[in-house]
Amino acid sequence: MNRRTFLKTLGLGAAAWVAPGCRSSSATGIPATSRRPRNIVFILADDIGYGDLSCYGPTPGLTPFIDAYVKSGVRFTHVHSPSSVCTPTRFSIFTGSYAWRTPGTFIAPGDAALLIPPSWTTLQRLMQRSGMVTGAVGKWHLGMGPGPGKTDWNKPISPSANDTGFDYTFLMAATADRVPCVYVENGTVVGLDPNDPIEVNYKHNYPGEPDGKRDRATLKMDWDIGHNMAVINGIGRIGYMKGGKKAIWKDEEMADVFTEKACAFMERHKDEPFFLYLGTNDIHVPRVPHPRFVGSTGMGVRGDAIRQFDDTVRRVIEKLYELGLREETLVVITSDNGPVLNDGYKDHAVELNGNHLPNNGLKGWKFTPYLGGTRVPFIVSWPGTIPGGQTCDAHFSLVDLAATFAVLRGVNIPEKAFPDSYDVSACFLDPAQPSPRKDLICQDPLMSLCTKRWKYILPAGSGNNPLKVKDPTLGRLYDLTNDPTENKNLAKQRPDVAKQLFGRLKAAVIQGHTN
Ligand code: CA
Repeated sequence: MNRRTFLKTLGLGAAAWVAPGCRSSSATGIPATSRRPRNIVFILADDIGYGDLSCYGPTPGLTPFIDAYVKSGVRFTHVHSPSSVCTPTRFSIFTGSYAWRTPGTFIAPGDAALLIPPSWTTLQRLMQRSGMVTGAVGKWHLGMGPGPGKTDWNKPISPSANDTGFDYTFLMAATADRVPCVYVENGTVVGLDPNDPIEVNYKHNYPGEPDGKRDRATLKMDWDIGHNMAVINGIGRIGYMKGGKKAIWKDEEMADVFTEKACAFMERHKDEPFFLYLGTNDIHVPRVPHPRFVGSTGMGVRGDAIRQFDDTVRRVIEKLYELGLREETLVVITSDNGPVLNDGYKDHAVELNGNHLPNNGLKGWKFTPYLGGTRVPFIVSWPGTIPGGQTCDAHFSLVDLAATFAVLRGVNIPEKAFPDSYDVSACFLDPAQPSPRKDLICQDPLMSLCTKRWKYILPAGSGNNPLKVKDPTLGRLYDLTNDPTENKNLAKQRPDVAKQLFGRLKAAVIQGHTN
């Protein structure tokens, strides 16, 4: 692709685009490794698999912006999410601590209490301490308020995500398939109407409210499993709610709303360092892309949601150029776990998938302990400091972002904070550098320990607790180098390796830290 075509693909004018590497770190007189990003933008997709971006997978044209954009950055090939589902991955990212260390951090209900104790050192708190304004926009799914039956959605919610270290938040409390289906800005529901108070519970419906089972024939998107409780915008959800009619989000507009809020945050704070977390709803269910993307991929709403995610990234990157901040900003784009086709709605994701490989041919999906559940796309870009067009096979985990961002910003990590987070900034700045991490642990919730070569999964039924395992060879062992699709369980043939990895997993639990 020539530069003109590249610019056209990016939607950028020649004046706005600065070719990668045109302002080298030597031109600034500062060695690359001592430069600090003034800003960090962290985009976390939801349920986008290792093969869902065309620059990773075999299906061309799904993500035209990112495919061009990746040429200005580094494409990582061996990065894992610490879990194959949402909440524990997000908890781990923001706390630098594996979620399984903290009970109650698996998939959170929509009315969960705030899962991150406000007293903890968090990634966002250290970004604040480094002199940044911190913002969180989009999917949270880490709870807010005192919890079920106690959180009053009609008043300022406390504690809120802001109490974990964000100066500004505009969030969906949990997921798009869970109530409450409203946006929460700085701890207050957007569009509150005192004459139409919001009530939420996960046990029973409210008299007179539509019901996903009883009123199934009226739904605009039928459910397959589970999503049959409250009916919001003609779509069955998990949990029940009533009231707040003016506050209910419009699913088709969600990506635009989050993108606009993210861009507005950057614009408001363009004159000071900022940290922006943008957690997209795409491509989690229910997949309801804006009409302008419907039919854009021929793969139904799942493919169209991927295209919508691509457009979100485009708009954020273009905003950085518009503000003149691109070369001052480190951008990380990744996903919280592996892909899933049928996730509880009859949205034809399976039928219309065609030959696409959401997990890029790996074994497993979201909700599984295999590589397809935890290997995620991961792109780092910082034009002018990190040469673009590189690929890096460093082996690390999203739990490492906490220490990595802290080091990049030159802020001290307090003792005992981030117990499982490694600083992998050297790999960001120079993809030839080896990862400092040997082992990483994932949960689905079954725990597994993964080195670059080997993967050991606890025996099924071990209750996610290695301390209860009597015979480690009843678990599963895969040689990822020679068997990347995890087909041949070697636990009995190589009990030495199985026991060694099991011992390290057990020690990680007992010691309370892994770094
Ligand atoms: Ca997810």
